[in-house]
Amino acid sequence: MSLKIHIFLGPPGSGKGTQASLIAKKHPGFVHVSSGNILRAQILKKTPVGIAIESRMNSGELVDDETILNCAFDSFRTLRQQESPPSDILLDGIPRNIFQGESLQKWVSSQPGISLGKIIYFQAGRNEIIHRFSDRRICQTCQKSFDLKSLNKQKDDCNTCHGEGPYYQREDDKPDIVGHRFDIFQELTYPLVEFYKKENQVHILSALLPIEEIYDKVSNLLQDNQSDPSALVGDV
Ligand SMILES: [Zn+2]
Repeated sequence: MSLKIHIFLGPPGSGKGTQASLIAKKHPGFVHVSSGNILRAQILKKTPVGIAIESRMNSGELVDDETILNCAFDSFRTLRQQESPPSDILLDGIPRNIFQGESLQKWVSSQPGISLGKIIYFQAGRNEIIHRFSDRRICQTCQKSFDLKSLNKQKDDCNTCHGEGPYYQREDDKPDIVGHRFDIFQELTYPLVEFYKKENQVHILSALLPIEEIYDKVSNLLQDNQSDPSALVGDV
């Protein structure tokens, strides 16, 4: 059975992971593979690689390109060996730089039956991403996250636990940190969008549309085997 690998690109907070998991839930044959779950799987298996990854992550280091790629290829092989293997993989968080992108392409072209599918870029600007996180608050009682506006409407009542908070902003959601993550994306990962654009392969979606609308667009793209990506660049 053939396997298509679709690549979801976008800054942290663009919602690409959310979309990938929604698609995988509703489309039989599609699986969501993220850099996070690939690494966690290796750690759980307690392979020598997994043990090395765990100690790196615990000391706050990034996992190197070779390791993450090998883990990804390993996970694709494992998926293909399943009794009912998936037809489509939604890849999220890999590739994260040009080196990974080129290596993935080389690997795919060496694997009979595997090809690259759609490459989708979830586009959002720095300020828009900062804004998206700036209103997020966490209920200290039940740890649910809220939009500040919806919280005010409920007269400061958490609609999950019905407690009165207190509500706090996660360190990770503060403008400096969000901005920094965006800058890293822009420097390391954004060049991939240009890389795929050169080959007329990238579909650009606004990450600021309502979640359902993005879902419909992504769904349609993935089901459309005829569409010519060049016609869609910058246009959705
Ligand atoms: Zn609560």
